[in-house]
Amino acid sequence: MASIFTKIINDEIPCYKIAETDEFFAFLDINPNAKGHTLCIPKQEVDKLFDLDEATYNGLMQFSRQIAKAIEIAIPCNRVGLTVIGLEVPHAHVHLIPLNAMEDAKFGKKESLTPEEFQAVADAIKAAL
Ligand code: 5GP
Repeated sequence: MASIFTKIINDEIPCYKIAETDEFFAFLDINPNAKGHTLCIPKQEVDKLFDLDEATYNGLMQFSRQIAKAIEIAIPCNRVGLTVIGLEVPHAHVHLIPLNAMEDAKFGKKESLTPEEFQAVADAIKAAL
């Protein structure tokens, strides 16, 4: 069965999209630790990040770096953190999280945004790419 992220890539489930290439896709996390929390994924559906083939792994890191640079411009923050977990969704992904405090890196903490706020954040990051 297709992962929830494959359904997002295929436009079967809506998302606040940031960027897309032939191989990669970036969109806002629906339950963000902080405003601007973004997920970067390969279109290829592989569960664990470190099981990706080397070219896809390196490509995902390069793609994530470009997105992180845009987040840093668009979202006021001290820096953008990168986290890999994958316990919830078995489709490799990188979390990019704007950090101002250690609390922002903790997955218990969640930010509540309206649809309009999500869209404004996505638009701001896209504009900074
Ligand atoms: P992990 O697998 O790394 O533990 O967490 C998966 C992440 O994906 C979580 O931060 C969760 O909020 C996010 N997520 C799960 N389902 C969806 C969804 O349908 N849309 C979006 N945008 N994010 C999701």
